[in-house]
Amino acid sequence: MANGRFAPSPTGELHLGNLRTALLAWLLARSSASQFVLRMEDLDPATSSVVHRRGQERDLAAIGLDWDGPVVQQSDRLPLYNAAIRRLMARGLTYPCFCTRREIAEAAQAPHEHLPEGAYAGTCRGLTATQVSEREGTGRPAALRLRADEAQISFVDRWCGEVTGVVDDVVLRRNDDMPAYNLAVVVDDADQGVEEVVRADDLLLSTPRQILIGRLLGLPAMSYAHIGMVLGPTGKRLAKRDGAVTLADLGAVGRSASWVLSLLGQSLGLAAANELVDTATLLRRFDPLSVRHGPWTIDPVYLRG
Ligand code: GLU
Repeated sequence: MANGRFAPSPTGELHLGNLRTALLAWLLARSSASQFVLRMEDLDPATSSVVHRRGQERDLAAIGLDWDGPVVQQSDRLPLYNAAIRRLMARGLTYPCFCTRREIAEAAQAPHEHLPEGAYAGTCRGLTATQVSEREGTGRPAALRLRADEAQISFVDRWCGEVTGVVDDVVLRRNDDMPAYNLAVVVDDADQGVEEVVRADDLLLSTPRQILIGRLLGLPAMSYAHIGMVLGPTGKRLAKRDGAVTLADLGAVGRSASWVLSLLGQSLGLAAANELVDTATLLRRFDPLSVRHGPWTIDPVYLRG
């Protein structure tokens, strides 16, 4: 038994990559008769919208996925995240960071197999109290970072095996005063009773950050299962420019939701080419040990009318 979740950001329509991740997360949870929850990660008010949220829920339901309880929206839960941030602050585990995006990019640590992209170089880590108040005086808004002490974290991913990462001083609260993704996700997964985090492998190197934050907050440990991305015809991550990649676009070229589900089932090795299946059939055939969870390059023929 491992309770699961799908946690999209309601910033646009779900595409085949998101739907494939959602399907696999659902299959893992439901195949062990576990709970499956849906969470909208809408902490970016500039890009998130209720229209996208509703559209995403509709598309997930259209391919036959269901979830337990009401859909959780992160924007409703700010006090929960702020309480967690205060606990880390009280233990002296945080510091303010005044760096601009540009400064962060310029100082970014050289690419490193154990560091996530854009890992923070620690520029503001050693600021004295005087330097902090000088910077505060300029009116520049500060983000709040975790003193991660370059902790090295290893975990065993269900599919990727042993992964080791060095945690950078990750942002806990953004400089617009909103909780940051890595903090919110950890607080929510624990609060929602999630036991296994299933998501795309672009977040693999953020996982050590989340494990460290969870440990510092004394939260239960999660299991992880990272799935390969859907790649477009150019070999890069599937994108809108590749053709009909959303349920609505595919519908407009005559592909039904059950056709899309069947294609995704085929990508996971659970359906034959041109075989129409439903979620109950996929669930019956599903075996976490043999499912095809790696990257999947989509045949461009499916993205046309
Ligand atoms: N909200 C994130 C995204 O849509 C996913 C976060 C997660 O699954 O941990 O990319």
